[in-house]
Amino acid sequence: MSTIPDSGLKADDALQRLKAGNARFVAGTARFPTVQKEILADLAKGQHPYATILSCSDSRVPPELIFDAGFGELFIIRVAGNVLSPEIAGSLQYAGRHLHTPLFVMLGHTNCGAVAAAIETRLRGTREHSRIQLLVECILPGLEDLDPQLTPEAMLAQAVEANVRWTMRQILETQEGRERQVEGRVKLVGAIYEIETGLVRFLE
Ligand SMILES: [Zn+2]
Repeated sequence: MSTIPDSGLKADDALQRLKAGNARFVAGTARFPTVQKEILADLAKGQHPYATILSCSDSRVPPELIFDAGFGELFIIRVAGNVLSPEIAGSLQYAGRHLHTPLFVMLGHTNCGAVAAAIETRLRGTREHSRIQLLVECILPGLEDLDPQLTPEAMLAQAVEANVRWTMRQILETQEGRERQVEGRVKLVGAIYEIETGLVRFLE
């Protein structure tokens, strides 16, 4: 179990915090990078993001901040464990077919809880609540070569990378994925974000 205490906020307080944050954003007093009204007006006409990123929902992995990217730059799909499902594949296909982003990044991260849950299932047969288990089962096929001799930390690191590679493999095994690779105009890369350091390590 997590040793980090919960936020201590009630739902309504959390909602107020979101509303206050958005109000700061609109007023141009955001604590995080602001955006000019003209840029929003320009982006309202259409989006031309240069990269599509599939990343984890983990609150410590915010792609725009990690890559210091602004509005309209990144098309982001976030799902726990950065897994592939039909809906996720549909979002990726949309990014490719309609937005023509040239780069697709499959972004895993260190200490991923979803991947840790998949390791628990793989090694000890632990089962999660119904729909969490569905997520876990998206990860399991990528963990077949997991080395059970590794320390828990090393095993999680290996599994995080294996999960990214498994997602990439599933994309590349589709006819569309193969065709795009052959054309050479679209690049698919894997990467691991280190939540301890803020560094993104792109996989070879
Ligand atoms: Zn995660």
